[in-house]
Amino acid sequence: MKPQTRNTVVRMDPDTFFYNFCNRPILSHWNTVWLCYEVKMKTNDRSRPPLVAKILQGQVYSKSQHHPEMRFLHWFRKWKLHSDQEYEVTWFVSWSPCLVCARNVAEFLAEDGKVTLTIFMAHLYYFWDPHYREELRRLCQRRNRPHATMKIMSYGEFQHCWDKFMDNQIV
Ligand SMILES: [Zn+2]
Repeated sequence: MKPQTRNTVVRMDPDTFFYNFCNRPILSHWNTVWLCYEVKMKTNDRSRPPLVAKILQGQVYSKSQHHPEMRFLHWFRKWKLHSDQEYEVTWFVSWSPCLVCARNVAEFLAEDGKVTLTIFMAHLYYFWDPHYREELRRLCQRRNRPHATMKIMSYGEFQHCWDKFMDNQIV
């Protein structure tokens, strides 16, 4: 599978979803990061459909500016129409963010302040490395400033991705 460039719309078939999002503990050669995102206006109405729901992908070994997390931030900064509007962003990612992405996402949340980010992850990237764990902890730190909420994907999120993002007419 070729890495996608820029913000090309990506589709995902069921096999790709199973392959990349399955909660297996050891994943050698899983080099692609998939990021399914939804952006909603912040409101109490939870049933409101997202304004945007798309998929990005990138290679874990490419430069971090090509990682889907960074491409999302680049797109969002341009797309966001009103600076005073509050947005609720949800990511479903096959891998948790790398060190650089985690740091940049934390900076983005601190500078914007009106974005709530929830990240559901299928796998923890370099979970055995304390630096990676520390950067993810920092991204989730509350201390009176905007932060991300991170959770491991469970049945509800898998079902949600299956229903919302998959090109699954063939099933
Ligand atoms: Zn990254």
